[in-house]
Amino acid sequence: MTIPTTASELQFDGRALINGERVWAQSGQAFDCISPVDGRLLTPVARCAEADINQAVAAARAAFEDKRWCGLAPAQRKRIMVRFADLLLAHADELALTETLDMGKPVKHARNVDVNSAANCIRWYGEAVDKVYDEIAPTASTALALIQREPVGVVGVIVPWNYPMIMASWKIAPALAAGNSVVLKPSEKSPLTALRMADLALEAGVPPGVFNVVTGLGPEAGSPLALHMDVDCIAFTGSTRVGKQIHVMAGQSNLKRAWTELGGKSPNIVFADCPDLDRAVEAAVGSIFFNQGESCNAPSRLFVQDSIKAQFLAKALALVPAYAPGNPLDQATVMGAIVDKTQMDTVLRYIERGQKDGAALLAGGEQARRETGGFYVQPTIFDGVKNHMTIAREEIFGPVLSVLSFTDTADVVRQANDSVYGLQAAVWSRDINKALGVARALRAGTVHVNQYDEDDITVPFGGFKQSGVGRDKSLHAFDKYTETKTTWIRIDSPI
Ligand code: NAD
Repeated sequence: MTIPTTASELQFDGRALINGERVWAQSGQAFDCISPVDGRLLTPVARCAEADINQAVAAARAAFEDKRWCGLAPAQRKRIMVRFADLLLAHADELALTETLDMGKPVKHARNVDVNSAANCIRWYGEAVDKVYDEIAPTASTALALIQREPVGVVGVIVPWNYPMIMASWKIAPALAAGNSVVLKPSEKSPLTALRMADLALEAGVPPGVFNVVTGLGPEAGSPLALHMDVDCIAFTGSTRVGKQIHVMAGQSNLKRAWTELGGKSPNIVFADCPDLDRAVEAAVGSIFFNQGESCNAPSRLFVQDSIKAQFLAKALALVPAYAPGNPLDQATVMGAIVDKTQMDTVLRYIERGQKDGAALLAGGEQARRETGGFYVQPTIFDGVKNHMTIAREEIFGPVLSVLSFTDTADVVRQANDSVYGLQAAVWSRDINKALGVARALRAGTVHVNQYDEDDITVPFGGFKQSGVGRDKSLHAFDKYTETKTTWIRIDSPI
């Protein structure tokens, strides 16, 4: 196949992938996949429902039972996963263009961040799986106790639309590497790259039935997967609202293992003794506007110590024009389109709410690029935000920065922790005692010190509190997709 290098060369296939075959939903129904770049129809996509989920789960179960994948030696699975990662990179331009057209992010980021990270994740878990040893317990010499990991079986995966390939790969890579079969439901707002990933997995040698993709709406296709009696584990990334339902559905059905990566309202705390103010400003602004603010870990609550706030804000405002939304297909663009009209309207409603609640709008606040037919919002900064205001409490998931101020350390830690979320946080100070003391006091899965952008597949990612249960990435992710089995063997030693 020739790999498309321009958006106009792309052709989309919106059929689900079940048991190695591209299929339409059994009902014949489809939904429209609309591009947020300019509002155009990309393709109809299979609107899967319970019957299709049942078919995909049955295919995944059959593949697991006959051991066509889990029965391979880890080194064999590794070779196939490495080939899968290579194929993602070989199709990088196509995948990046598809991602951009489907969910609006700048093509430069889709190519350099999303495709590369997804391929790296799949390669890393593939390469890891033949290097992880099981254990023998230190029991008395009359017995041998083996502690072994086994794949859980059929893993259901439900992901959001903000980093479609990365969120999917964080789950499918450790799940597949460990020998499970997978049924993935991508977001209805960004289903296209997941389908292409599954095509490429097949091409790499992942056997049919092992990696299935069912497209559809949350309540119609996601719920039957979370409620399915033959799914052993459900791994979910999305909103806290739906994440809570996932845990309920797991409990209501077969007590499947439920792992959730949910929302965030991450505090970014800048003390007056910040070692590099320009870097702190760039990180604060760059991280909230990256991916149009549609990042679960975006530092959306910026706490700046009173004495440097005016200086900090002046520097921040000077950076804002560089983030003006542009055509996501243009290589120079750093801020693209919001995923759809519904999400754009939500972001604009929050901006209105911030103004009504008395926060001071310093920049942005409006829809942009209306003439394109797409969905764009200006980079927006509010000052004078109080931690009790809606824009400081709720996840906006758009390019909106709330700036708060503080005087002393105890006060800012209290405010930072006063949130239902606990995904990430940051602290900027040249005083190592203060920085590490605050890092320890912050209730978050990840705390950054004097930076906000470090990221690596070797490091766990996930949240405290209502930001979810469990961790993606790193070897810890294998814990979610394996059961621990103990085998006791009696030893009647003749000597
Ligand atoms: P969402 O919860 O609306 O949807 C996520 C997925 O769940 C989609 O595939 C959707 O179709 C499905 N879904 C919706 N209703 C369902 C139901 N009743 N049953 C089963 N599945 C259902 O979230 P979203 O708007 O797609 O994504 C944004 C959210 O994702 C934000 O809250 C963001 O913070 C979160 N997120 C978290 C992380 C993390 O790692 N913590 C990463 C990325 C995004």
